[in-house]
Amino acid sequence: MISEFGLIQRYFTRAAPTADLGVGDDAALLRIPEGHQLVVSTDMLVCGRHFFEDVRPEYLGHKCLAVNLSDMAAMGATPRWFTLSLSLPKVDEEWLGAFSQGLFALAEASGTELVGGDTTSGPLNICVQFLGVVPVGQALLRSGARPGDDIWVSGTLGDSALGLVSLREGARLTIAARDHAQRRLETPMPRTELGIALRGLASAAIDVSDGLLADLGHILERSKVGAVIEWEEVPRSAALRECEEDQQRRYALSGGDDYELCFTAPSRHRGFLDALGTTHGCPVTRIGVIQPDEALLVRDRAGQPITLESHGYDHFV
Ligand code: ADP
Ligand code: MG
Repeated sequence: MISEFGLIQRYFTRAAPTADLGVGDDAALLRIPEGHQLVVSTDMLVCGRHFFEDVRPEYLGHKCLAVNLSDMAAMGATPRWFTLSLSLPKVDEEWLGAFSQGLFALAEASGTELVGGDTTSGPLNICVQFLGVVPVGQALLRSGARPGDDIWVSGTLGDSALGLVSLREGARLTIAARDHAQRRLETPMPRTELGIALRGLASAAIDVSDGLLADLGHILERSKVGAVIEWEEVPRSAALRECEEDQQRRYALSGGDDYELCFTAPSRHRGFLDALGTTHGCPVTRIGVIQPDEALLVRDRAGQPITLESHGYDHFV
């Protein structure tokens, strides 16, 4: 039977060349570059709540990092280091090997390093804390949206919600659509480069984790403004377009787990932002405009308001 120390050593200790001190001491030592602020965020994944118990462990390793990288992207931060706190019901080496492989593959792809953590026994629970850096004053906040600013989103919305439904209850979809939707749910790709490129361009930003309307709502609240969204402009994948229109609306406007960026920017940046989407391999789409009065309106093609029962996911309602 492997010990706690052996487990950490075998599965969670890798070289962390940019840290002054990584895994193995009582704490890590990290150096923040001159002229930068430290950006800190945490996201926890709970079994049965955020993922199914039988999810492939390599996907889970990927996702616990991806959701945190998404928060870094939404701040315009360069992600650097992370810690991993794990509560494990039992030591299953096959599971741990696959989990750490998924985790380190994305860590390597994002140029980030695991520098510490905590390991205990208990119900399966994974908590990652991320540390990033941003030049002083250049972080993207929720509070900077101004009337007249365009509202943009990256990629497509609603795929993960469709993936969840297709996993849980099945859905009438082509195999290609089902695979696409489940891939978006299980191995989301954070928009790291885009977030960094938006420094100095976006007036506000957030990552879409609880549904577009809920997350855009946070920007509106913090910025004390409102918005009009044109439903026809909301970017949807070919997979999502296989669904009925009302399902598309539900998934794209209030489904969770998209991990795309929603941001606002003055209209003078339009040309530049369109080009930026292409250079970063992740298209961005203009979906609406910020308004002075504090309301959020979604309009259909005919200009009629669309109403939805729910704006997004909330753990406590
Ligand atoms: P302490 O008892 O001082 O808290 P631990 O035994 O919990 O130390 O951890 C020993 C070292 O291993 C520390 O450097 C800690 O950051 C690291 N560590 C523990 N669990 C993990 C993990 N899951 N991933 C990465 N590093 C870990
Ligand atoms: Mg400890």
